[in-house]
Amino acid sequence: MDQFGFSTNSQGTQHLLIIDISEVLSYQGSSPILLEKGVVSFLKAPFNHWIFVADQKESFHQFGALPKKLPSGVFKIEANGFNPEDIQLGWGLGSYQFGRYKTKPKEKLVFLFVENLEVKNVLSAIYTTRDLINTPPNDMGPFEFAQYAKNLFKDSPEIKVQIHDTEKDWPSVFAVGSGSDRKPYVLEIDWSPENSKFSLGIAGKGICFDTGGYNLKTGTGMNLMKKDMAGGAQALALTKWICDAKLPIKLKTIIPLAENSISGRAYRPSDIIRTKKGITVEVGDTDAEGRIVLCDALHALSEIAPDLIIDFATLTGAARVALGTELPAVFSNHDQTARDLVALSHDIHDPLWHMPLYHPYRESLSSKIADINNIGSTSYGGAITAALFLNDFVPTHIPWVHIDFMGWNLTSKPARPEGGESMGMRSVFEFLKRKTI
Ligand SMILES: [Zn+2]
Repeated sequence: MDQFGFSTNSQGTQHLLIIDISEVLSYQGSSPILLEKGVVSFLKAPFNHWIFVADQKESFHQFGALPKKLPSGVFKIEANGFNPEDIQLGWGLGSYQFGRYKTKPKEKLVFLFVENLEVKNVLSAIYTTRDLINTPPNDMGPFEFAQYAKNLFKDSPEIKVQIHDTEKDWPSVFAVGSGSDRKPYVLEIDWSPENSKFSLGIAGKGICFDTGGYNLKTGTGMNLMKKDMAGGAQALALTKWICDAKLPIKLKTIIPLAENSISGRAYRPSDIIRTKKGITVEVGDTDAEGRIVLCDALHALSEIAPDLIIDFATLTGAARVALGTELPAVFSNHDQTARDLVALSHDIHDPLWHMPLYHPYRESLSSKIADINNIGSTSYGGAITAALFLNDFVPTHIPWVHIDFMGWNLTSKPARPEGGESMGMRSVFEFLKRKTI
């Protein structure tokens, strides 16, 4: 029995048959129960087994309904025509529960019997992302996040995990985090396998709670802001996944961790920050803090000139206005990279959407007294101007991909429970895997 809802013990298993919607008639027979897509039924004698009607044309997500719909027990599946990995992935993602703060244990325990769990690494990565996002901010500040990362790699001495203070070398992260009693940190993880074929830099926005700072959010706007470290969570989980899968990639991950808060020490609108790169940033809005912490991370990654830089960030509401909450926006200074990534994302049902890095909008970020303002002078095109801000910190010759995503399921759907969610990570992993074959 494991946390993902799988068991390797076949004792006492019940039988579950998964059939395609096109086969329903041959099973319906005289059964009084109507077999329908997405429904689990128990067929009495002569069958005596559970049956689930799926659709071969649909994604693995449909199998995520099973752990919720079946009663307690261990189930052995027979499913002609369906990919066993899809069933495992859907089942595992649908089994997720965030139980850390529930004093009563789970009442229903539903397991799938498997001889080989083929999707363990991907499930681990997505569970890590979800757990980190779902943990409330009182237990997931910058320090706790950094410790979580240390702990995640404690059995891997070949992976170097460093936690840096920000005051000296990470001025942008220091500025954003200065209003909180909880110190900001920068988490840096390095891995350098001997057989590496490719070098990669990963960054993730790790704002452990975002009040907006002096440009304070409304109460409603603040409700979900524990998720503002979802980019960092996904960057960390992807790093671990790459290492677990032993992809031949030389990797550096940098995650700025800060709480955007208010106090006499907090940064103010109209402050000017001299960033790690030396570019000066006028703070037009303290709530546009994600791009500020990321700019130091992107610069540090650029200095080692990897073959590719990827960042993940819950960066703008504007990306959600444009594409909704389930479709992350992808920006890149290298169109072919973005096109390849987006094309495969749809094939594996972890969709991304390519958005334009439209340079003429850069002028709306101009500042009268600094090199750049952190907020556009118009409220239009906010996801694009945020990406253009970051673009100033990456040299054009280094391919860079920026993923602006929600990190949260607003409602529960099969395999996608309400709460913290990884978005675009499977696609990036698959993209990297293909690059190294
Ligand atoms: Zn903010």
